[in-house]
Amino acid sequence: MRQARLLIDGAWVDGASTSELRDKYDGSVVAEVHEADREQVERALAAVAEAQATVDFPHYRRYEVLTRAAALLQQRGDVVAAIVDDTGFTVADAEREVGRAVQTLTISGEEAKRIHGEMVPLHGAPGADGRLAFTVRHPVGVVAAITPFNSPLNTVAHKVAPALAAGNGVVLKPAAYTPLSAGILVEVLLEAGLPPELLAVLNGSGSTVGEWLLQSPVPAFYAFTGSTEVGRHIRAAVGLRKTQLELGSLASTIVCADADLDRAATACVGAAFRKAGQVCTSIQRLYVERGALDDFAGRLAAELGGRVVGDPRQQGGFVGPVISARDADRIESWIQQAQQKGADVVAGGTRDGQVIAPTVLANVDPADDVFSQEVFGPVVNLVPFDDFDTTLDDVNDTPYGLAAGIFTRDIGRALQAAETLRMGSVHINETSSSRVDLMPYGGVKESGAGVEGPRYAIEEMTEQRLVTMGRP
Ligand code: NAD
Repeated sequence: MRQARLLIDGAWVDGASTSELRDKYDGSVVAEVHEADREQVERALAAVAEAQATVDFPHYRRYEVLTRAAALLQQRGDVVAAIVDDTGFTVADAEREVGRAVQTLTISGEEAKRIHGEMVPLHGAPGADGRLAFTVRHPVGVVAAITPFNSPLNTVAHKVAPALAAGNGVVLKPAAYTPLSAGILVEVLLEAGLPPELLAVLNGSGSTVGEWLLQSPVPAFYAFTGSTEVGRHIRAAVGLRKTQLELGSLASTIVCADADLDRAATACVGAAFRKAGQVCTSIQRLYVERGALDDFAGRLAAELGGRVVGDPRQQGGFVGPVISARDADRIESWIQQAQQKGADVVAGGTRDGQVIAPTVLANVDPADDVFSQEVFGPVVNLVPFDDFDTTLDDVNDTPYGLAAGIFTRDIGRALQAAETLRMGSVHINETSSSRVDLMPYGGVKESGAGVEGPRYAIEEMTEQRLVTMGRP
């Protein structure tokens, strides 16, 4: 039986207790998970703090370790299977996750060499003649990384790699659903030569290990991706300490009648159903200009026809199970609620175990949960539109502001969308779910505060110090 163990003070150790990790498709036990108790959490935090203050890990070594870890990750034969065991994602989704994590490690390594401050032009102010001023960037200290289930390798990489590149120590608490992928990422970092005391891994639930991390005075920075509810709780718990909060979302994509409809349909199907829709930028609302609606709906149906749904390990698997039976219950009941109120099921709408078939709904009441709450499942609402300005208002009309996409050949509309949509990112001729890992990435409104993307995360995970120098 595979073991997901704890990394404390540079050594893999057993947890104070264990639990079984179950396959999300067939419920079989896939691993034994070691969980930390409070004493282990405190010990891990103290050891990482001590190492961060004393271990010599200069910038060029950080570059070497992170880029070597990227190469080692690419060669790991067991990582795709671990992601599938953790999440129930299809093999194709797991492979994409690995490719992106390799990128994130590589980019973080490169950025480690470029950390710098700037000269401040004091000569522009009266009375500062002969003085110099410049800024330098110092690591914040210990970063607590708390990560979600839906990106169990790459989001872990997005927290851990920039934190290490910036010269910090890291205490990682992966999502309880997905400890195996995070464990492999840590293994490749150690194999690549990371001083092991700089990193700790603490498996366990949010209500135990997560809370103990929030209650500890040791972390100087909390790097979190997850729900808005937990993000709000973290913000309230950690006082003046810095946070990077990547939170919930309800993303839309607009398809105008002048767009390349084939390209848009292919991209939208990927962006709505990848990882069974469990992506923060997944398309939940798809606004299609009325003149193109029938044509576009036909192309969507063609894209969805014959897709392999169910067992995520099947050849060509497209959509597998969602993360838990509770989530499958919730999503199914939201679909049924919409149906009972007159919505049309254009595709899918069925459930088998934890697998929700890729579902397209039309004529949904905007007040219904499946439209107004974050679904985080393989469900998309098709909405015809006539008036472009109103549609932009509708896209903005959620508590969230993470990402949106628009397909159009009309540069005026494209620029209007970029200007009007209050989002962390607006993608023109791409869907809301379009990310390259070197981009700055973050949300506004209830989608969070703080930015991911190695260069930008490093800036947040370092402290700026101003140095001024006058004549002796
Ligand atoms: P979640 O908030 O339930 O859990 C995220 C992490 O927080 C887990 O490690 C969990 O154990 C931990 N946690 C839970 N309660 C805690 C507490 N009281 N104290 C400390 N830690 C605690 O989220 P999830 O279900 O794993 O992920 C889905 C959510 O994440 C969705 O809302 C999705 O939109 C969001 N998400 C956002 C982004 C983004 O970039 N904005 C990316 C991915 C996922």
